[in-house]
Formats: sequence, structure tokens, C-alpha cells
Amino acid sequence: MRVLLVEDDGMIAQGLQTALRQSGFAVDWTSDGRSASGALHATVFDLVLLDLGLPQQDGIEVLRGLRRRGDATPVIILTARDEIRSRIAGLDAGADDYIVKPFDLDELMARVRSVLRRASGRADTSIQHGALRLDPVTHTVEQAGVPVNVSAHEYAVLEALLQRPGAVLSRSQLEDRLYGWDEPIGSNAVEVYIHGLRRKLGSDVIRTLRGVGYFVPKT
Ligand code: CA
Repeated sequence: MRVLLVEDDGMIAQGLQTALRQSGFAVDWTSDGRSASGALHATVFDLVLLDLGLPQQDGIEVLRGLRRRGDATPVIILTARDEIRSRIAGLDAGADDYIVKPFDLDELMARVRSVLRRASGRADTSIQHGALRLDPVTHTVEQAGVPVNVSAHEYAVLEALLQRPGAVLSRSQLEDRLYGWDEPIGSNAVEVYIHGLRRKLGSDVIRTLRGVGYFVPKT
């Protein structure tokens, strides 16, 4: 899943990016309102974490613009303790939740999971494919009911493939799902994650179409 983080405080942004990436999200970070609006026009995100006090265009304006276009991407606003008015304005403008700075990272991640669960509109958001079951909220994998320990990047690769069984995804399409704008891409990273998944789940779960990419066969 891809998250847009809009935060002009570099320290907070750094901590959030680390926490989100450790949980398996691809994170794009922008530090002003105008480039946030631009990014939201250009890219589909699964979630936006939006600071309110921002240079160029404030967070409320970014949010209003998003909702005016009928874009229902879940938004959690990040507010300071003394910004009660703007917190209310944020909720009125269509935010799904808010968290008050300074916040606890575990609490933020719990809110992220709860907003994503609600946004999916179902109590059970898991992806079932044969014996495999993925939970996109907790990023856990089970095979025949047995938990399988996969890394955040392995999870992201598997989720991308399982969202469209039978569809072949190229290496660069998979890289898009793995990395934010400013993350370095290892030259053979995708192959490494595929190898790891085959080792853990069995060699025939993910197939290679030579010269094209990877796919999970339809059940
Ligand atoms: Ca700020």
C-alpha cells in the first residue's frame, strides 16, 4: 500500500517514514501543500497523512481540494495540541481521523490500520487465494492456516501479485509497489523477494514468465 506523507517538520517526517516502511508501506514524502496537491492529482494513494500547518498551501486546503474532486482517499490529519479549531475544520473538510502531536508511533499505526479497515468497507479485508490468506491491514500471511513470516517487502510483492491473479507484473511494476520516490532501488531486489517468497511458500506459488515478469496462477 502506498502512503502520501505531508509534513514540513523533517524530524517528524523521518520518524514516520521509518515506522511506515517497517510496516511494509511504500511512502512518498512531501513537505508543502502545493506539491501534496500535485502528488494527489498525479498518483493514487491508499492513505494520506496530512499535517495542517504547511508552507505554500495549508493542509485544510489540500484536503478540501481532494474532496471537491470526489476523491475519497482516506486522510488522517496530524495536528498540534493547540490546533483544536483546525482539527474540527479538518474533520468537517472530510478527514477520516486525526492524531495530536506529539504522538505515539504505535497509536498512529493503530489508527492507520483502523482507517484502512473502515475504508475498505468490509470487516474482513483479507485476500484469499487457494491456501494463502493475506491480511492487508496487519500485513500478515497464512498458508493453510499456518502463519508464514515474511518481510515487509516480500509482503508487498505478494500482495501486488495476489490482487490480480493471472496478471503478469514486470519487475518495474513491482518496484513501483515497493518503493517511495526517494528510496534507492536495489538492482536485483525484486528477484531477491521472489526467491524469499518461493522458499517460504513453495516454488510454484509465484511463476516467472521469462522476459516479461511474474504472476500467481489463477486458482
Ligand atoms: Ca507543520
